[in-house]
Amino acid sequence: MIQLIKGFRDILPDEAGLWRQVEMMAADIFSGFGFLEMRPPVMEKADLFKRSIGEHTDIVEKEMYTFADRGGDVVTLRPEATASVVRAYIQHKLYNTAGVQKFYTIGPMFRRERPQKGRYRQFHQVNAEVFGTASPYMDVQLVFMLTTFFDALALKNLTVHINSLGCSECRPLFRERLCSFLEENRLNLCNDCKRRIDRNPLRVLDCKVDTCRQATKDAPAITDFLCSDCAGHFEQVTGLLTELGVGFELDRRLVRGLDYYTRTTFEVRTDMLGAQSAVAGGGRYDNLVKMLGGPDVPAVGFAVGFERLMELVELAGSVPCGTERPRVFMAALGEKARSIAFKWLCELNREGVPAEMCMEERGLKSQMKQADKWNATHVAIVGDAEIESGNIILRNMNTKQQEELPLDKMPECLGRAISRL
Ligand code: ATP
Ligand code: MG
Repeated sequence: MIQLIKGFRDILPDEAGLWRQVEMMAADIFSGFGFLEMRPPVMEKADLFKRSIGEHTDIVEKEMYTFADRGGDVVTLRPEATASVVRAYIQHKLYNTAGVQKFYTIGPMFRRERPQKGRYRQFHQVNAEVFGTASPYMDVQLVFMLTTFFDALALKNLTVHINSLGCSECRPLFRERLCSFLEENRLNLCNDCKRRIDRNPLRVLDCKVDTCRQATKDAPAITDFLCSDCAGHFEQVTGLLTELGVGFELDRRLVRGLDYYTRTTFEVRTDMLGAQSAVAGGGRYDNLVKMLGGPDVPAVGFAVGFERLMELVELAGSVPCGTERPRVFMAALGEKARSIAFKWLCELNREGVPAEMCMEERGLKSQMKQADKWNATHVAIVGDAEIESGNIILRNMNTKQQEELPLDKMPECLGRAISRL
């Protein structure tokens, strides 16, 4: 039998209901903050990601699903959404609309990483991206929106980690100092990090290997190198977060895995999921729109990892998955009754009432069994005798009580009866 691809997973109906609820909550809350939905495609030209995420990042070096299609175009299944949203923003000249532009998008991402708990090769994110303001207020509003979403899900034990990555003015000096520090400590670094010193030294700070973390304990911190504009921006962000009562931890090692970030960067972590602790990450990317051929427009955004989020939602048990609606099973005996019941069934379904029937000829006992398996809250029984008497029987499967309903007032009276119980 052909099995699914390693690192990919099926979201089966017992999970999908809860996923939909949480997606709808995100959409609701983000709309309330003025965000509009955008749905970019899941595949783009490979160059888009190479140029935006950066050639010397783990994602581009090792994780992308990139291949030549039948026409020879080199395409990539998106490893993240920001690059696509920026491309769409530029391509459709969305910057021509006045004011700040806010978008959110929900969907699958693809990275060929080592599959493990909380890490898949197809995973899902909800992204929020804002274009057109460099103001620290916007950074803070985004973090506030994120914590509002997590609060609505009643999630506990989350911490916002925050740092500034500076800008093209101040980062080069930091990079230089960091490089010299890493060179001096080269022997204590893992092989990946040894390579990173020349290519992408900031990433060394993000290495999860214990010896690397130990070796870089006293590495220079970017926050000591910020130019006065970046320092002022960061001070305002942390000050505003404090005023709003959003708890956070300053994290001088937080660098994120993508090259396009500038200034404020943040990550939301949990201590409830073991090693894969980051539930969301984001920050400013003031140069990306210009770098991808658009105007000089500052931007800021975040991405929430849905698989990890859903694990937390399940642990919190705070979101109902909407299964407690009435479910009616029509038990029909005989062809005439079945054709009548079928019409009622169609009407109930049209009104949004979950209703099922046995479409084959079966005895009452077998149909009751089927109703039980389907977790029916009610069974409506109709046969020749009921047609003759003009009343059908409605059985409440929880209380086991039965009542008679007039056949000529079906299915309206059925709808009323099941909502009453
Ligand atoms: P990590 O440090 O866990 O690898 P990241 O920095 O690569 O995360 P981002 O690219 O910022 O993550 O994506 C944002 C969020 O998407 C992460 O915080 C995480 O919750 C989720 N995520 C990233 N990669 C995966 C994956 N392979 N499987 C499941 N979720 C993921
Ligand atoms: Mg990663």
